[in-house]
Order: sequence, then C-alpha cells, then structure tokens
Amino acid sequence: MSKEVKKTKKQLGLTSQIFIGLIGGALVGLLFNYLIPQGYVRDTVFIDGIFYVVGQGFIRLMQMLVVPLVFCSLVCGSMAIGDTKQLGKVGIRTIGFYLVTTALAITVALTVANFIDPGIGLNMNAIQAADNVTISTKTPITQTLLNIIPTNIFYGLTNGKMLQVIFFALFIGIILTRLDDKATTVSNFFNEFNDVMMEMTMLVMKAAPFGVFCLIARTFASTGFSAFLPMLKYMLAVLLALFVQCFFVYTGLLKASTGLSPVVFLKKFFPVMAFAFSTATSNATIPLSIETLKKKLGVSKKISSFTIPLGATINMDGTSIMQGVAVVFAAQAYGIQLSMADYITVIGTATIASIGTAGVPSVGLITLTMVFNSVGLPIEAIALIMGIDRILDMTRTAVNITGDAVCTTVIANLNGGVDKEIFYKKDIKDIS
Ligand code: ASP
Repeated sequence: MSKEVKKTKKQLGLTSQIFIGLIGGALVGLLFNYLIPQGYVRDTVFIDGIFYVVGQGFIRLMQMLVVPLVFCSLVCGSMAIGDTKQLGKVGIRTIGFYLVTTALAITVALTVANFIDPGIGLNMNAIQAADNVTISTKTPITQTLLNIIPTNIFYGLTNGKMLQVIFFALFIGIILTRLDDKATTVSNFFNEFNDVMMEMTMLVMKAAPFGVFCLIARTFASTGFSAFLPMLKYMLAVLLALFVQCFFVYTGLLKASTGLSPVVFLKKFFPVMAFAFSTATSNATIPLSIETLKKKLGVSKKISSFTIPLGATINMDGTSIMQGVAVVFAAQAYGIQLSMADYITVIGTATIASIGTAGVPSVGLITLTMVFNSVGLPIEAIALIMGIDRILDMTRTAVNITGDAVCTTVIANLNGGVDKEIFYKKDIKDIS
C-alpha cells in the first residue's frame, strides 16, 4: 500500500517538475536579465555555459530519438491498422483534416492581422534586425513534392529527411501486413524496437525539468522585454490568432465531430502543450503526446502511432499562423498592397510550407521565405521578426501539436478508437 502511494507520488512528479522548470526558468532568466550585471559569470558561465549546454544537451537527446522513433512508430502504426485499404482511408482522412485545419489557421491569421494591423505606423528605425541573417533560397514546389520519395533511404534517415522517412516506413508497414506470417521476425523486430525507443524516450524525459529550466532561463536571460517593444503589435496578433485557433477552431472541431468535451481534452492534454512550449520542438513531443492520448484520453495507439508522427512532420497550424501574420506585417511595414489573389496564394503556399517545416525550433522562419517569395515580399523583413521569434516559436509549437492531437482524436473516434470511460475518468495517474 505504502509502496503504491509512493509510486503515485513519483508519477505525479514529472509533469509538475516540468512546470516548476518552466516557471523557475522564466523567473531566473528575468533575474539574470534585469538584476545581474553583464560580465563573465552571467554571460559566459551561465547564459552561454550551463544554461546553453544543459538546454541544448536535452534538445539533442530528444533529436537523437526522433528518426528511429518516428520510423518504428510509423511501421508499427501502419501494421496495426492492418489492411492497406483501411490504412489508405485513415491516411487520406488524416491528411485531409490536417490540410483543412492548416488552411483555416492561415485564414484566422490573415483576419486577425488585418484587424490588428501589426505593421502600420511602424518606426522601422526602432527595430533591431537580428544579426547574421541567413536565409535559404527557395525550393520549387515540384521539387518539394519529388523530395518525398527517397532515392537512398539511408541518406534520408541519416539526414533527418522526415517526409522520406515517413514514406519508406509506411511502405514497409504495408508490405509487412501483406506478407503477414511470412515476415514475423521482421514485424516482431519493429514492434520490439518500437518499445525500446518508447522506453528510451521516457527515460530521457526524466531530464526534461532540467532541460526545460535551462532553455527557458537562457531565453529570458538573453532577451529582455525591451527587444519586444517595437514588435508588440506583431506579437500580439500572432498570439491572438494562436489563441483563436486553439480555443475556438480546435475545440469547435472536436465538439462538432466527436461530441467529446473540449475542456476535458485541453485540461488533460495541457502538460504536453507545456512541454512543446518549453522545447519548441514538435518532434520531441511525439512520445509524450502518444502516451497522454492513450493513458489519459483513451485514444487508441493504433491510430495515434500513425497520425502523431505524421502530424508532427506535416501539420504545423501554429507555424502557418505566424507566417500569415508575418505576411500582413511585412506588407504593411514596407507599404506593399496585397490583393485578394495574393491572400489566396498565401493560404496555398503557407499550407505547403507547413508540410515542409520540420518540427524543430525556428524552421518556420526558413520556410517563411517561400511564402514571402510567392507574393513578392522583401525577404529582409524576416530579419525584423527573427530577433523576437523564440517566444512565438514556443507558443506556436504548442498549437502545432495540439492540432495533431485533435485530429488524432477525431480520426480515432471515427474508427471507434476512443475509450470514453478513460476520456472522462478523473483520477488518472500522470504519465511518467
Ligand atoms: N518549432 C516548430 C515546431 O517544432 C516549427 C517552427 O515553426 O519553427 O513545431
């Protein structure tokens, strides 16, 4: 009995510890920024030393897991769904849902941005553009589509080309299903390796409170509030659009298509959002998201092990919201008039950019060049938003993964894969 109580206490610990890391990191970061004078100890020992090494070390551990985890999870997911027809059905529905929510997200962003006018009356001189802006060149859409097919899967795996990894993993899953008991050794290998990766992830997660603390502390210590001031309206517009997407669009979609309570959903899913917020990495949240959906919301792993890694790679609603607002911001700041056709182009390209955005920090800014190019906006404008992007990156990542989880719940519900008893159960143990 006492052992059990002890265990529950321990399990409750991790999420709370991550929260403490988050809040503590923010407070310590602000303290460093405002109260501790610049110098060797503050800047070299703490900000670029301890905070940087522990924070990045944690991100690297998470990144280390991503390729094998996504690969195994998708092979097992597509095997679990079983026949190719059903997989195709789930796949098409999922991708359809992802595309619709992304297009909705950009529409919300364009509306909110036109309402707030983030770039109007902007004093360009007051804005500090980030140094060393490195912006990649544009990749044509045809090439982006062709790049999904790997010419060498080992190149795709070693270079983290996630769409190629997904493509190949699904293919393997389908073949294994077709071969059935002729390939049990290989199927068992993937199932067991998937368990190994899940276990490894849960172990790495134990370092999360420290990683989160250092990541947040460094962000706040190096970016005080003053950098945000000239960009306040832009930030406000992005945050408002993210809020609308999360608390109106998603909740509406969830309620309308499943009848499930959005309040229960958000409450139970909140720790995953907080984790995504701290790391700004959709990929890193894949295991926690799958586990939370299963254990706290009763969503079948059969569906989530397929839809969550896919969503973390191709469905970035939060990112496209930032891109939509950034378009209006840049157009206003540079006095460029956008037509209705331009807005439609932005909805199309930002949806595609969302597919091409990897679930790691700051990539949304790189794919933003593609959106700017599509309507002829100056790429230099990205430099303006770069300096304050970290906080927005954190927030949009939380929205990115919530979109994936909502879609997963909807698709699972359509396939009878949501256990309502677990969904509404109150005293569920925390994920450890
Ligand atoms: N950090 C985001 C994510 O991982 C991607 C981005 O918008 O830069 O979901």
